[in-house]
Amino acid sequence: MAKIFCVANQKGGVGKTTTAVNLAAGLAQLNQRVLLADLDPQGNATMGAGINKADLKATIYQVLLGMSDIKGVRVTSETGKFDVLPANRELAGAEVEMVELENREKRLKDAFALVADEYDFILIDCPPALSLLTLNGLCAANGVIIPMQCEYYALEGLSDLVNTIKKVHANLNPDLKIIGLLRVMFDPRMTLSQQVSSELESHFGDKVFKTVIPRNVRLAEAPSYGLPGVVFDPASKGAQAYIEFGAEMVERIKTM
Ligand code: ADP
Ligand code: MG
Repeated sequence: MAKIFCVANQKGGVGKTTTAVNLAAGLAQLNQRVLLADLDPQGNATMGAGINKADLKATIYQVLLGMSDIKGVRVTSETGKFDVLPANRELAGAEVEMVELENREKRLKDAFALVADEYDFILIDCPPALSLLTLNGLCAANGVIIPMQCEYYALEGLSDLVNTIKKVHANLNPDLKIIGLLRVMFDPRMTLSQQVSSELESHFGDKVFKTVIPRNVRLAEAPSYGLPGVVFDPASKGAQAYIEFGAEMVERIKTM
């Protein structure tokens, strides 16, 4: 049965999509069976996995609204060697349309139930908001991975996310926990990065992943080639770090 993880942080541009796509590709290289669900109407994870969001007949939108079966909508990322439940702009409408529906927070969870036995990991790339879409991600997941930049404002907004996760845990999904904070875009030459990084370690202890993802331009270049960074330049420091993170997650699920 797949373990299901949300990559979430309500801030934009903090590395959620880069983490979701590269963790998916990294896990695939470690022979894990992975489904990456794109829950952001921007469709960046879809594109980053090499799938043209403009060509899709159906997306996660139809799955959430009960118009299509997840098995008919998922596609395979040939480059990344994992499956994708793709998204495009249409998904923005789901936010409003789902409000009317029964079980509106658990529609993604119900969809995953049909395929969970085919995967080791299901990863969800969340949009930059604590919205009904993100809530569907949190209700479907066993755990949350929170990417953070080690900068002065990193912790700002974290308490909103943590409170939301606590509420979902208490009311909707008792399974849910924070798996960890992932330090991303790390620049070891910056004293501030070092300081924030050690502060995170002392406040959050083993809730901080051991792996640190460095700032690496190859990770930023890869999406324009429709490739995960891990595939685009496997020798780069960024790719290596995401493969290491994949190995850390493989170890981690053994105790879940
Ligand atoms: P989010 O999904 O949280 O909005 P993204 O993953 O799209 O964030 O990242 C925001 C921007 O930062 C993108 O342009 C991405 O390519 C870049 N980026 C993310 N992680 C790294 C990294 N480790 N090194 C360099 N650039 C990165
Ligand atoms: Mg994103």
